[in-house]
Amino acid sequence: MQVKVHTHKCIGAGACVHAAPKVFDQDDQGIVIVLQKQPTADLHASVHEAIEACPAAVIQFEAGDE
Ligand code: SF4
Repeated sequence: MQVKVHTHKCIGAGACVHAAPKVFDQDDQGIVIVLQKQPTADLHASVHEAIEACPAAVIQFEAGDE
């Protein structure tokens, strides 16, 4: 599974970092940084929490490894 984020639409709310701190971080402007594009299975639940928590709905979690 692969994490994709439309960073140009990120509003820097930080909800993803709160939900999944091992997968997401924020840069100096608060824009999301993906720390793990292919998170291990034990982190998948937290990624789904981040997706639900993101107010801008810019996080996607898809099958594939590209
Ligand atoms: S929760 Fe969404 S809007 Fe907020 S920092 Fe993360 S990706 Fe950006």
